Amino acid sequence: MSRDPRYDILFEPVKIGPVTAPNRFYQVPHCNGMGWKHPAALAKMREIKAEGGWGVVCTEEVEIHPASEFAPYIEGRLWDDSDIPAMALMVEGVHRHGSLAGCELAFNGYANPNLYSREIPLSPSGGPVKWKDPVSARVMDKEDIKNVRRWHRNAAIRAKKAGFDIVYCYAGHNIAMAMHFLSRDLNTRTDEYGGSLENRVRFLRELIEDTKDAVGDTCAVAVRLAVDQLLGADGLTHDGEGRDIVAMLAELPDLWDVNLADWSNDSVTARFGDEGGQEAYTAFVKSLTTKPVVGVGRFTSPDAMVSQIKRGVLDLIGAARPSIADPFLPAKIRDGATDTIRECIGCNICVSGDMTITPIRCTQNPTMGEEYRRGWHPERIAKADTLETILVVGAGPSGLECARALGLKGHQVMIADQAREAGGRVRLEARLPGLSTYGRVADYRLQALNSMGNVEFFFESEMDVDTILEVAPDHVVVATGAHWRMDGMGRQSRRAITGMKTAALLSPDAIMHGETVTGRVIVYDDDHYYMGGVLAEALVKMGANVTLVTPASVVSQWTENTLEQHRIQSRLVSLGVEILCNHELVLAEGDRFHFEPVYGGAAIVMTADRLVPVTARAPNDDLYLALEASEAVTSQIKSVRRVGDCVAPGTVAAAVYSGHKLAQCWDMDEDGWYGFKRESVGW
Ligand code: ADP
Ligand code: SF4
Repeated sequence: MSRDPRYDILFEPVKIGPVTAPNRFYQVPHCNGMGWKHPAALAKMREIKAEGGWGVVCTEEVEIHPASEFAPYIEGRLWDDSDIPAMALMVEGVHRHGSLAGCELAFNGYANPNLYSREIPLSPSGGPVKWKDPVSARVMDKEDIKNVRRWHRNAAIRAKKAGFDIVYCYAGHNIAMAMHFLSRDLNTRTDEYGGSLENRVRFLRELIEDTKDAVGDTCAVAVRLAVDQLLGADGLTHDGEGRDIVAMLAELPDLWDVNLADWSNDSVTARFGDEGGQEAYTAFVKSLTTKPVVGVGRFTSPDAMVSQIKRGVLDLIGAARPSIADPFLPAKIRDGATDTIRECIGCNICVSGDMTITPIRCTQNPTMGEEYRRGWHPERIAKADTLETILVVGAGPSGLECARALGLKGHQVMIADQAREAGGRVRLEARLPGLSTYGRVADYRLQALNSMGNVEFFFESEMDVDTILEVAPDHVVVATGAHWRMDGMGRQSRRAITGMKTAALLSPDAIMHGETVTGRVIVYDDDHYYMGGVLAEALVKMGANVTLVTPASVVSQWTENTLEQHRIQSRLVSLGVEILCNHELVLAEGDRFHFEPVYGGAAIVMTADRLVPVTARAPNDDLYLALEASEAVTSQIKSVRRVGDCVAPGTVAAAVYSGHKLAQCWDMDEDGWYGFKRESVGW
């Protein structure tokens, strides 16, 4: 298919200082939990984005010196020349496909405690480090400032040696030292680096000048600046100092990469921000500079991208998450295959990789992070040697993904689901406040499956052992999902809570199937991911008077890893949800519920019309166990396997991965199933 001419503008080259991007698709720097520890994995992941058409592919933050290292987080590293080969691996991969490689040099001062190097962190004005570590930064003297400038300059030269085309001066996310100098709160200096904005900008200006001087003959020098911290008058704002900084430095860098701080504002989840949501803050930049401007906004729609360019908001379409969910997004627009784009759902599971210090994962793209170690590709999968008929029972995320990958391998695939439409849990969850994008997990897969001639759907088809024997496939994959438990077993209480059988309960599943309730409702959250908070919000919207109780010290605790926790708790407070943390449900008596404080003290008894237990899910494994126990099945069907939540309930990302992995490893032995390439760094 050929490209829609409306999108031609996205494929125009853009000159960035001494280099030229082949098109307007720009993968901005993003963390990935691989960094210096998994350089080959990182290089392959970045290369595949270039293969998929991203005209510029950048690194994550790259440490430039042990005086600011990011332990325990794993980012890039260019401390000395010995780090160059690992970084060059990525550059070579990106260059193989004609794209430019960008390197985000980062010196983060007080934002990192230097747990590994044990150097005292540096900062413009000292004080405790940004996170909770019991570490303080020391005030930089003039020598320190000179040193950091020299380290940055030397790292820029190393980046050039590694082959990078674009070298960054980083002043974003409230993390980078250049931003600390800009901040009135963090910079209370009285010398020429503090006080007036002109003085606070001095350090960033010097970094840019140094970098241009060191590598600017062949490398473009980019600035990544947070133009608004969303702190109002207390911080940089797009109509205040953020704007003034751009005005002061307008023509100095070769490229402006502009966004919001902190990271949770820049990478806002779909629950709290829409596609293109940064435009209101960054649109002014182009009016102050002739240099190209890149910005982000979780762009997955080519029309929205074209609109950004045509209206003069951006020159380059920046993306981190859309490039993770679909490394081939540009190629699909180029080839007129926009209906096959795997759209990011804005869940930030990708971010959770970095936060948990593990390689990146993606809900939509199960191959993300597996490109090197398992050799998986987001668009290609090897054909099977022997083609067979496979019945997949359950069209949730795991069943759909398994069917998709098995279909691509050439098998004859049948998918049966008792429901009227596909999607399983994501169709249900997509009805909840802020989760509509979860439907994309099913939409992408349905589109792919519907375009295959070797896949058939059977809806409203509840399958049991007899019906499966009638269908008589070669193999069965059971993907029947899970349900929310009603007995109270969760993390705090590993066993059923007394009285739950006869208590006034309402299940999360019933709410998702449309049951409504008013009156006084308690949401008891011992699951700690998004569901408790989302259901509290849904219940308020139904008109209920909601109290959320959790044994954790904050609401939806695990969402700290998806950068949402503070937003969730604030939203619940603003909706009037009463919140009781650090309390465990110990007894239910009809409509009376007993909560004990986790750290001791007197129990609280609350009455409610209903309590919604959001504690844990249990697998729907009856069908799988019945198939396993049936002699007829054993003698007539070659294999019965299971995937997703019916094995062990988890995230949507885990279910998609589970389905994909089974298809990828279909014929493999134990070594193939468990084995993947590992990297040993420094041996
Ligand atoms: P996962 O996250 O593992 O994909 P889901 O709960 O999202 O699991 O999806 C499971 C799907 O399986 C649901 O769409 C459900 O309707 C379907 N299902 C469950 N049991 C049966 C059955 N016996 N026959 C057909 N479909 C079933
Ligand atoms: Fe988008 Fe979620 Fe994938 Fe991240 S994990 S890229 S937010 S779909």
